[in-house]
Amino acid sequence: MSVLKPRRVDFHAHLDLYPDLAEAIRRCDAEEVATLAVTTTPRAFPRNLELTKGSAFVRVAIGLHPQLVSERGSEISIFEDLLPETRYVGEVGLDASPRHYRSFDQQKMIFERVLRRCARAGDKIVSVHSVRAAKHVLDMVEKFLPPERGRIVLHWFSGSVSEARRAVDLGCFFSVNERMFANPKGQALIRAIPENTLLTETDGPFVERDGTPVSPGDVGPVLEALGKVLSKTPEEVSRLVNGNLSRIVS
Ligand code: MN
Repeated sequence: MSVLKPRRVDFHAHLDLYPDLAEAIRRCDAEEVATLAVTTTPRAFPRNLELTKGSAFVRVAIGLHPQLVSERGSEISIFEDLLPETRYVGEVGLDASPRHYRSFDQQKMIFERVLRRCARAGDKIVSVHSVRAAKHVLDMVEKFLPPERGRIVLHWFSGSVSEARRAVDLGCFFSVNERMFANPKGQALIRAIPENTLLTETDGPFVERDGTPVSPGDVGPVLEALGKVLSKTPEEVSRLVNGNLSRIVS
């Protein structure tokens, strides 16, 4: 991801959930958006990798989404086999919301295996989901993936301000999307995140704007909203985020 200077950063996008994956990749390259294409199952990873072979700006992460663990947990062995193919991991993590709480114990087993494998391999960059599970995610990161063995990027973090501070102490980064600014709690949380740990993301196509999924790389509204919080212009925020990205990948 350090090859070229990007114009913007979209550090968590599901390119393969748009109607045309190849077109989504082309768009990120044409617009010079450094994009982390996360995947939700290990089986989805090889096609993403294949289609991004010539891409200057898109990198593919191998993931096993916590919301899919109850059906796809057995694919953890495929995850482990394919992990050497990429430096990037995600979407992984924990989800304790009512619909997914039944699989929470299984999610923890899978996430522990993911973190241990990443720690053993070293130098992985991991995009982590933590819905209603910030404390558990941070406990596991602390235990299984020390900062010198890998980097955690908390995607769409929704824990408390004190949990955000704990995450910073554990060396975590944060990828922030436009929906996080929708309420005062989210805004307070973002103010508590140090600016040198901030990245931008769309989380498209899950994040929608006026009922339509945001396009890959369309982080303009995030840059504006962050600018208001940080008293910076969107261009200054963009430079800040680019600098943070280079530190993460270096
Ligand atoms: Mn996601």
